[in-house]
Amino acid sequence: MKHTISYSEIERFKRCRQLWNYTDQLGLEPLVEARERTFGTAIHHALDRYYGFGEHPTRTFLAWWDNYLRECADTQDQQVLFDDYALGVGMMEGFAAWAPEADRFRVIHTEYTFEVAIPGTDGTFKGRIDGIAQDEYGSYWILEHKTCKNLPYPDHLHFDEQTVLYQWAMQESVAQGRVEYIPSDARLEGVIWTGLRKVLPKRPELVERGKRLSRVKIATTYEVYLATILAHNFDPADYQAVLLELQSNPDTFFRRDWHMRGRRELEIAAWELAAAYQEMRRESIPVYRTANRFNCERCDFREPCQLAQKGGHIDTILRTAFSVRDQTLDDVTEEAMLS
Ligand code: SF4
Repeated sequence: MKHTISYSEIERFKRCRQLWNYTDQLGLEPLVEARERTFGTAIHHALDRYYGFGEHPTRTFLAWWDNYLRECADTQDQQVLFDDYALGVGMMEGFAAWAPEADRFRVIHTEYTFEVAIPGTDGTFKGRIDGIAQDEYGSYWILEHKTCKNLPYPDHLHFDEQTVLYQWAMQESVAQGRVEYIPSDARLEGVIWTGLRKVLPKRPELVERGKRLSRVKIATTYEVYLATILAHNFDPADYQAVLLELQSNPDTFFRRDWHMRGRRELEIAAWELAAAYQEMRRESIPVYRTANRFNCERCDFREPCQLAQKGGHIDTILRTAFSVRDQTLDDVTEEAMLS
């Protein structure tokens, strides 16, 4: 029987077997989607429409969010919904101002789905990349957009399993002549990674009873600082040093990394993919927890996992807070849940 795996499943398998068991073996999904995932989906949708159809990302984000509010507003904390709405609008406004100059490429496809055979196995690897682009010299790249609280360290892509696997899979698809508008002998150079910080530029505070703006260093942009000066009818000349500093400093709310990868890196990625697949498809796989702050902080299964650890029955939590993909929860035994 053919099995299909995704990067998310591999990542869960390597991160915590119990998480993998809940999600990929039992097919459990939280009834209320995690806040960060919802927000990430909305931003990705806005970027997809921006690069694919030239739509303004703020407008698309707003339309997506309105629709989401209509469908899910009663299940969510209203303040959280409002905060995320304001953050998304601000981020998309900033992105629309930043991207035209930073985008030195032509987008050929957005949200492209692939499925390729895993070498030496009976399985396939499936996923979706954010896009494929061609740079000004004619080379092809895959696109990856990421929302994050803080931008990662500069060489993070050397250790990024997701984008190397996606590049390998897309290179396979191109070589098989399956990617429209890209010749089958084209080589993908690497990944164009765009980081979008989930934070808005701050406005400087009024000080001395409103007589002037604070010159204390804050996370902001030239445009926001200048707009605040003008909004209070102050003279920009009085803030020249701050404005010059902001102008000469690189933007820290968005970042673009171009990361090239060669043939050898892709070969290693394919070998590691096949090894992971074979491990995941073994007859009997021991399921154990890998509990630590990094893994558990944002895990959807914290509650049942913690209860099970204390010897409690997790059946009720699973039945009230989760659904099962493709079957009813009654088919999932508590023994399987705890295995
Ligand atoms: S809470 Fe931690 S240990 Fe439990 S399933 Fe999630 S990641 Fe694993």
